[in-house]
Amino acid sequence: MQPKPEDLGGGLWSVPVPIPDNPLAYTLVYAVESPRGPVLIDAGWQHEDAWTALRDGLGTFGIEVGDVHGVVVTHFHPDHSGLAGRVRDESGAWIAMHHADAEIVRLFHNAGQGGRRAFELTALRRAGAAESDLTGSSRQTPVAPPAIPDRELSDGDLVDLPGRRLRAIWTPGHSPGHICLHLEDGDRIFTGDHVLPRITPHIGLYPYDTPDVDPLSDFLGSLDKVSAMTVEEVLPAHQFRFTGLSGRAQEIIRHHEERLAEVAALLSSAPLTLWDLTAGLTWRHPWAEMHQGARRMAAAEAAAHIRTLETRGVARRDGTDDPIRYILR
Ligand SMILES: [Zn+2]
Ligand SMILES: [Zn+2]
Repeated sequence: MQPKPEDLGGGLWSVPVPIPDNPLAYTLVYAVESPRGPVLIDAGWQHEDAWTALRDGLGTFGIEVGDVHGVVVTHFHPDHSGLAGRVRDESGAWIAMHHADAEIVRLFHNAGQGGRRAFELTALRRAGAAESDLTGSSRQTPVAPPAIPDRELSDGDLVDLPGRRLRAIWTPGHSPGHICLHLEDGDRIFTGDHVLPRITPHIGLYPYDTPDVDPLSDFLGSLDKVSAMTVEEVLPAHQFRFTGLSGRAQEIIRHHEERLAEVAALLSSAPLTLWDLTAGLTWRHPWAEMHQGARRMAAAEAAAHIRTLETRGVARRDGTDDPIRYILR
């Protein structure tokens, strides 16, 4: 059930924008009023139906896409960044995102389709993927890479929103450059995918053995960061608005601590590939029934948890063999 566009008061509107064939169903795009025109927070999936919903939804409140002053993208994922370029084309708006995600967007633009495929195969082989999991593509419908932003944000920056105070809070984890946006003059926080009321965002390590990064530890740190904030209302990019940011952030931390314990319990002195380990974890849909794309997401999620266990000195790699295997430290 998709909610309707809503006037949230205080010069703030919410427009649900559908994500076709996706269980998330919709992205909540927010518009924040300013004297130079509204600024959008996220823009929704790149699809004609999504565009219509965004345009008509804003129209409910007398906002034309052509009036939009800027688009702040919480992170580069296509359900958030997808329509930003089209909004910019119609309005001349700027697009802003954190510099770490801007870097990924540039990589997308520079790497061709063939290069991405070869890269993916290497990652899967090193993870010990079964031959049957190597063929085919992980993507259902290919989407164009996100628009390259005009502006890059860093932690603590104020967004260009004349007469108001909207501050970028860097919350890496779900993506390296994920940001929440604190509307300081409205006592509200836009949390993107970082904190959602009923689901936890995907935290993955991809390629599965990328050195020197630990997205889950980053994510847990980012949850502590927002947990310390006192803010009245939470406006996430999916599901629904809620109060009680700290409580929800701590709940998500507990979920991952339990998951870390589950991963650790599978490890022993007998070396396991990432693929075997992932297959041994409990998932909402059983591993045996998962399609290829879901298996790769699951493996990335398991890899993120193993990396955190490596950081904490619980797990380690066994040798440097291809595929990589993990044991208890
Ligand atoms: Zn996302
Ligand atoms: Zn999302």
